[in-house]
Amino acid sequence: MPKIAFLGLGAMGSRLAKNLVDGGADLVVWNRSPEKTKPLVEAGAQAVKSPREAGEAADFVLAMVANDEASREVWLDAETGALAGMARGKTAVEISTLQPKWVRELGPKLSEKGVDLVEAPVSGTLPQAENAGLVFFLGGKKDAIDRAEPVLKPLGKSFQRVGDWGDGATVKLATNAILGVNVAAWAEVIAMLNRAPVDTQTAVDAISQTSVWAPNFGYLTSTMIKGDFSPKFPVELIDKDFRYALALAGEDKAPLVQHVHETFQRAIAEGLVAENMTALAKLYR
Ligand code: NAP
Repeated sequence: MPKIAFLGLGAMGSRLAKNLVDGGADLVVWNRSPEKTKPLVEAGAQAVKSPREAGEAADFVLAMVANDEASREVWLDAETGALAGMARGKTAVEISTLQPKWVRELGPKLSEKGVDLVEAPVSGTLPQAENAGLVFFLGGKKDAIDRAEPVLKPLGKSFQRVGDWGDGATVKLATNAILGVNVAAWAEVIAMLNRAPVDTQTAVDAISQTSVWAPNFGYLTSTMIKGDFSPKFPVELIDKDFRYALALAGEDKAPLVQHVHETFQRAIAEGLVAENMTALAKLYR
């Protein structure tokens, strides 16, 4: 059985690591704030003090951290980074949502030391992370993906091979651009329905029977109607994804994405940074 390391035990990473250990994986865990390793250690994982130690211990090192800067630190820090501990032939799996240009920089840096990078960003949020319902967008060399996919299998329902390094990040940012635009549209429409004499839930149920309905609209609309904005995918993270998507598209080439990004920025200015992305609805109350 290969030894697996998981770096980054935030809202998503902690759930993925738990699935791995519950499935019997031989798992090493690390998190910047060490207290988050406790529940995983209780579940059977071993905590280490740095990504470097994780890299020394494991055959596959998986990371799921906030952004490009965090990714750079956990992989490449000269003293504590995972690469410093990884021997030739080991495999790095980057699950964080990152910019394609960073993934294209990271891949060759790992290759220089004989470590293969597979990028594996995911679509889905906390319930899908808990229930192996994520969709993975895999990028990298075929033989490395062939090795990594069985390790990721217990975590997802769909594994899409989309191309080489950076292509996974591109598909992930495209997915979240569509997601965020829909969040912004529903935030305005729910407020519009709330102000109209019609019953909002009745209206949404009727819309759900039409061809404009998409699979995640039930989740988006129900949180807005109930006013339940407990964070699953917080404004802070989708704001980051919109920043990355705009950099990818070119600022003057994606005016709708830019407008929605400005709306998320307005939500941050109004104190909604840590609330769920659907808290955009609060802007129109
Ligand atoms: P989160 O709960 O905010 O966790 C962020 C993680 O990154 C924590 O483990 C944090 O460590 C770590 N981190 C931040 N800066 C760091 C640094 N400089 N060095 C080392 N570690 C650092 O976020 P999340 O929801 O788990 O999301 C993690 C990644 O998955 C993000 O890229 C996000 O865009 C992506 N994603 C999220 C969702 C979602 O629905 N939430 C869905 C798909 C993809 P500490 O605990 O020490 O702060």
